[in-house]
Amino acid sequence: MTERISTLYTAAEIAVRVAALGVQIARDFEGQRIVLVCVLKGSFVFTADLARAIDGNVRCEFLGVQSYGEGTESSGVVQITQDLTRSVENEHVILVEDIVDTGLTIAHLLELFRTRRPASVKVCALLHKPARTRVEVPIDYLGFTIDDKFVVGYGLDFNQRYRNLPFIGVVEQD
Ligand code: 5GP
Repeated sequence: MTERISTLYTAAEIAVRVAALGVQIARDFEGQRIVLVCVLKGSFVFTADLARAIDGNVRCEFLGVQSYGEGTESSGVVQITQDLTRSVENEHVILVEDIVDTGLTIAHLLELFRTRRPASVKVCALLHKPARTRVEVPIDYLGFTIDDKFVVGYGLDFNQRYRNLPFIGVVEQD
């Protein structure tokens, strides 16, 4: 089976959106400290670019999650495989996700973070697939809304491959 990747957003288009998100976040949190929580693995590229787009006081933390489900379907049962290195109590947290699909992962993480008593929790997602929503979650900062297609690149994988693509593409199988 061969896969072709057709481009959905070029590296330049992504850079423009990420820069705008950075400006918006810096403005919203002016004079305050922010903790960016990178939800691994898919968000590592996005978080690296977003952090540099925010002109402000930023700390980065990394959260390893594994979602169990059938095939590509998330179940919402999220296991933490790697936790934060420092407490986020009284801090302004932004959860950075690659893509909100069913919403189950973010819903679970929002519940988890509320128990850690941060000053606030916001969600920043690069992509959102509203057609697949199973639970409504607030997305405070969003890059792009996309159709119900499986996307790769810019951190997102297909069987752990393609995370290194500088653009976002759709896997076409033939
Ligand atoms: P949710 O819990 O919102 O259904 O799933 C979120 C996770 O599923 C994302 O963080 C991502 O890891 C994975 N996911 C959902 N849609 C896609 C997609 O189109 N491409 C890739 N590579 N991963 C996806």
